[in-house]
Formats: sequence, structure tokens, C-alpha cells
Amino acid sequence: MKLSLTTPVKLNNGVEMPIFGLGTFLSERGDATRKAVLDALEAGYRHIDTAAIYGNEADVGAGVCESGLPRAQVFITTKVWNDEQGYDSTLRAFDASLERLKMDYVDLYLIHWPVTGKRLDTWRALIHLYEQKRCRAIGVSNFTIRHLKELAVQITASAEQAGQGGPRPPERPIVEDRPSTVQAGSPLVPMVNQFELHPFNTRKELVAYCQEMGIAVTSYSPLARGRKLANPTLTAIASRYHKTPAQVAIRWVLQQGIIVIPKSVHRERIIENAQVFDFEIAPADMAALDGLNENYSVVPLDWAPDKWV
Ligand code: NAP
Repeated sequence: MKLSLTTPVKLNNGVEMPIFGLGTFLSERGDATRKAVLDALEAGYRHIDTAAIYGNEADVGAGVCESGLPRAQVFITTKVWNDEQGYDSTLRAFDASLERLKMDYVDLYLIHWPVTGKRLDTWRALIHLYEQKRCRAIGVSNFTIRHLKELAVQITASAEQAGQGGPRPPERPIVEDRPSTVQAGSPLVPMVNQFELHPFNTRKELVAYCQEMGIAVTSYSPLARGRKLANPTLTAIASRYHKTPAQVAIRWVLQQGIIVIPKSVHRERIIENAQVFDFEIAPADMAALDGLNENYSVVPLDWAPDKWV
């Protein structure tokens, strides 16, 4: 598979998203983030992932502006935080994000977490923003199969009801087994689901479900925040390819056709993480990396995605 930093992943609405981007969670506000964004854009990155809760949207916007690149050449993702979920509050949160970014649209707007009792209204707000052409794509993050099925069922019901000119249906409980009538490719299906994914947490079932539904997958924490880079299998494979463990972990994600957004605020690492397009991991090594799965999560247990009822 011939890949590059800007290989486009076609979302289910036709928008193209670069397969590789810079993460910015825990990138300190101010110069650290602004410089990381500048360094990344200089190194050829064309996709930056931020979120309202990271507190650094203004610095991401400043870095993009300072790079001198036309806005249309950089793909920007941001996310609505949990305490701003709900229909009207999400619309306000979106305006505030744009103001901080100093941009007039974002490329991808995500629901950051599947907040109980709020996520369906939040999703309706995202659909509104999408229809108003204020973001090029909309999606979710940390959604499990259960959350995605719930969304499909609820939104289908709303659309059917709206088509009949009736009122919006009351919220229904989760219906696990009801097959969704939403077709992959419908603008009502989230275009992206962003969740934790690395060789120590391979999320195979969720990846397969998303792919079947036409939902592009973004891997966050692809380096497991650096906590597993000394794993002997990973280091042995890395040394065979004359690459670092971080580069192998990133390449393992890319070879599955999955979008990846490693974070660093250090120029050398930003460059290192992007040097993953001059080698290919052989099938046997891909399988060995798959075998590292231990459902290890960098997310604290009480934040586990499946805990959100
Ligand atoms: P990550 O990218 O797996 O790891 C980042 C950590 O690894 C940082 O401590 C970084 O340190 C270090 N690092 C970076 N490159 C390295 C290298 N080549 N060698 C050794 N260490 C290296 O973790 P992440 O930040 O959690 O995830 C990536 C992005 O995904 C986030 O920044 C964010 O944009 C997104 N994300 C989204 C969610 C969500 O809920 N949607 C959750 C988590 C993350 P330095 O910065 O000091 O170099």
C-alpha cells in the first residue's frame, strides 16, 4: 500500500481527510502548541486535531495562520466538550471554537464523548451545523458499537418522522438488536469515529463495525502515550526495519487504512513520527503486532467508553 503524509481518506460524504495528523492533547497553550503546529506543517503535516477542552484552539489557529498555508490546505478537527453538550449549547460551543481558532469553518466537528442523556441532541446540533455548511464533516469520538447503533436507530426514527411531517419522536431506550435502516453513505451516519487504538488495544470489533457502516476510523493515542514503547516485540520489530518503536506503532495503524494523529511538541519527534512512509511492515509482523493486544487503555477506567450508558 503506497501511502504518504497527505494520503486522502474519503469520508462517507466525499470529503477527503489526510490519513496523518498532529495530535494536541496536553500540548500546552501558548508557544508550545503554536510552535508544534508550525513545525508539523513545515514537516508536511496537513491535518491538526484539537478540542475545546485542550485549551489550545487559539494556538492551533495561530500556528496555521503563521504557516502562511491557505486555509483550505489544512484539515482541522475540533470537538464539543461534555459540559457543553445538548442542542443549543453545542451550537454556542461551536461558535466559540471558531472564534478561538479564528476560522470560519472547521473540517471536522466531533462529539468528544458519548455523554449520557445529551449525545443525541448534540448529534442533532452537529447535523444542523453540517447542513449550514459550517463544518465539512461531522463525527463522534469514544463511541462504542452500542452508541453507534443507538445513534443510527434514533436518527432514522427522527428522519422518518420528519418525512411524515410529524413531531420529533420521544427518545427511546437503546435497541441493541434492531437493525439500522441507515445506509452507509447517508449524511446522517457519522463520518468519523475517533477512539483509542494501538497495538496494545486493537479494537478489532469496533473497527470492523465502523468500516462496515462507512464510518472512517481515527486512532488516538497511537503511541499509547509512550508507555509501551519498550515492549520487546515492538522493539525487536522496530530494529529489524531500522525504525523506532513509535514509527512502527504508527505504521501499524496506517497499514490498516486508519487515520492516525500522534502528538508531540518536540520538533525531532514530530519529524520522526512522520517518517513512516519509506517502509512497509510485512504481514507476519503485522500479525505479531496484533498479537500484542491486551485491551490496555491510556484512558482511566472511570472514563472507559463503554461506561457511558
Ligand atoms: P500519543 O500520541 O499516543 O502519545 C503522545 C505522547 O508520546 C506524548 O507524551 C509525547 O511526548 C510522546 N511522544 C510523541 N512522539 C514520540 C516518539 N517518537 N517517541 C517517544 N515518545 C513520543 O497520545 P495522545 O496525545 O493521547 O493521542 C494523540 C492525539 O489524539 C491527542 O493529542 C489528541 O489530539 C487525540 N486524542 C483524542 C482523545 C479523544 O477523547 N478523542 C483522547 C486522547 C487523545 P512529547 O509531546 O513530549 O514529545
